[in-house]
Amino acid sequence: MTYDVIIVGGSFAGLSAAMQLARARRSVHVIDTGLPRNRFAHSSHGFPGQDGLRPGEINSNLRRELSAYPTVSFSEMAATAVAREMAGFQVSFANGAEIVARRIVLAYGVRDTLPDLPGIYERWGVSVLHCPYCHGYELNQQPVGVLAQGEMAAHQAMLLPDWGPTTLFTQGRLLLSPDQLQAFSHRGVQVEETPITELIGNSPALDSVQLADGREIALAGLFLAPQTTPSCDLADQLDCATANGPTGPYVDVDAMQTTSVPGVFAAGDLASPMPNATLAAAAGVKAGGAAHRSLIFDPDLTSEG
Ligand SMILES: Cc1cc2nc3c(=O)[nH]c(=O)nc-3n(C[C@H](O)[C@H](O)[C@H](O)COP(=O)(O)OP(=O)(O)OC[C@H]3O[C@@H](n4cnc5c(N)ncnc54)[C@H](O)[C@@H]3O)c2cc1C
Repeated sequence: MTYDVIIVGGSFAGLSAAMQLARARRSVHVIDTGLPRNRFAHSSHGFPGQDGLRPGEINSNLRRELSAYPTVSFSEMAATAVAREMAGFQVSFANGAEIVARRIVLAYGVRDTLPDLPGIYERWGVSVLHCPYCHGYELNQQPVGVLAQGEMAAHQAMLLPDWGPTTLFTQGRLLLSPDQLQAFSHRGVQVEETPITELIGNSPALDSVQLADGREIALAGLFLAPQTTPSCDLADQLDCATANGPTGPYVDVDAMQTTSVPGVFAAGDLASPMPNATLAAAAGVKAGGAAHRSLIFDPDLTSEG
């Protein structure tokens, strides 16, 4: 069969896109490997109506809601290739299976690369964090740090005093201007230039960081902006245009999540420089609606995209 829409990635963005299409009674197939970006966190915060639930619980709730719609189906495996074909798009799996659809929504998210520092990976999502709005509140105003990877660190350091006494660790990577130093001083941010060499504490909790000169600084949370890369290369295979965000490349889309390639829509972290579950879901809603409207108003994909 030819589906109306294939969605690659079945998390916040992909499932939200699927809901719009399901409610239009369109056939939609969601392909998902079950590895959402926030799976390392014990709880997810800020998603309306689901604050504090485990990430997997939110995903199950979204799936359960979708299961009420008979035109939605799922595959639990990786999409490995995609190609434009006459009727739309053909998606292939590693086992050789292929499916086709008239439109495609890419919602497969991004991967994080953390700096190479002993003790960092085992704390990711619990005491090593990327977003104060998501997890800062739970640190209960204890001391926090920012580990500089690039310019984003200065921005994070200005925000973080609202969540706890803040130290910016430049790691020798960040040169701060006199204006920045003055702004930090107004916000009460300490600047530490001696590099962190190790994270200490009963993992995944963090008690302190060890510095290269032997000092130890007590911290309950360490924030950083990890480098991000798309979780797979399907957008590249389709030649979708990309843009560069502060942490890595993302698929360039217009206000309705339309990519540069006609019939291809993208949503969520894959297509945004602002990672957030609610924003990903909202983008998914737009992408699902846009894919639906494209089936009606541009059935032969004649527009420029
Ligand atoms: C540690 C951590 C904690 C976070 N906590 C919060 C929080 O509390 N609140 C908040 O708002 N945001 C939080 N975020 C951000 C949030 O996780 C993302 O914004 C959100 O997950 C993006 O949703 P998405 O649907 O775009 O992508 P994802 O949730 O990453 O989902 C992408 C899906 O695509 C699948 N996939 C990938 N490649 C393929 C393929 N080739 N074929 C099939 N499927 C594929 C993956 O398995 C995954 O299920 C957190 C992020 C991190 C890293």
